[in-house]
Amino acid sequence: LASLEVQPFPTVLEFPTGKTGGGHVMVAAGPCGVESLEQTLKAARYVKAHGGHMLRGGAFKPRTSPYAFQGLGVEGLKILAEAKRETGLPIVTEVLSPDQVELVAQYADVLQIGARNAQNFPLLQAVGEAGKPVLLKRGMSMTLEEFLMSAEYILSRGNMRVILVERGIRTFEKATRFTLDVAAVPVLKSWTHLPVWIDPSHPAGKRDWVIPLALAGLAAGADGLIVETHPEPEKALSDAAQQLHEEEFAELMEKVRRLAAAL
Ligand code: PEP
Ligand code: MN
Repeated sequence: LASLEVQPFPTVLEFPTGKTGGGHVMVAAGPCGVESLEQTLKAARYVKAHGGHMLRGGAFKPRTSPYAFQGLGVEGLKILAEAKRETGLPIVTEVLSPDQVELVAQYADVLQIGARNAQNFPLLQAVGEAGKPVLLKRGMSMTLEEFLMSAEYILSRGNMRVILVERGIRTFEKATRFTLDVAAVPVLKSWTHLPVWIDPSHPAGKRDWVIPLALAGLAAGADGLIVETHPEPEKALSDAAQQLHEEEFAELMEKVRRLAAAL
């Protein structure tokens, strides 16, 4: 169902703030995790002011360590709803398990499936039935064929609104947190009609490298970005080193506009 042979024109997803696919680019931005109402509102206000189209923020966080900050849960979802009410930005937030899908879908405009769950087939089937667009991250050790098969689990349940996100894969290189596979963009777009986005934050692992990776992805033809930014990144409870300061996010958005005009 994802194949260009089945649908020979790009899927375009429309939101009140913009479109993605078929030449339309959207930027989802916000903190890695929702930590407080104040932090989330601050981020949402400047994401909107600098031209972002969607607010990201995890209420349920899939942390490597069970002792690390796990997110605020339902309280985090309520904070996201408040940020949406004030700014009008649609919300993308992660759902970790099939039994959470109904709850998260009450608050989210887009359901995020994280890299660690990219082959959680019952979860993929559940979001396929939830009636909301899905932002599907590539697993860190998945081939592009496997990635598309995961998308098929969602599509085959009747949900055609899927965004594919390249967020970096595991290689021998240790300088960056993951290796951004920029080639995934043209390869996926030659196979599928679905929008393809880049997450430059998790492969970079360090905020200095986020803007170049984001621009590389867009130059390669990506239909959108999902990027982490925090009002006080040094104090963030997760992914502190890679979240952009407000000024850096503003610089990214300015460069995104200039690149779009040049392409
Ligand atoms: C995130 O977006 O904060 C996240 C956990 O991403 P990933 O699933 O790509 O690691
Ligand atoms: Mn993160």
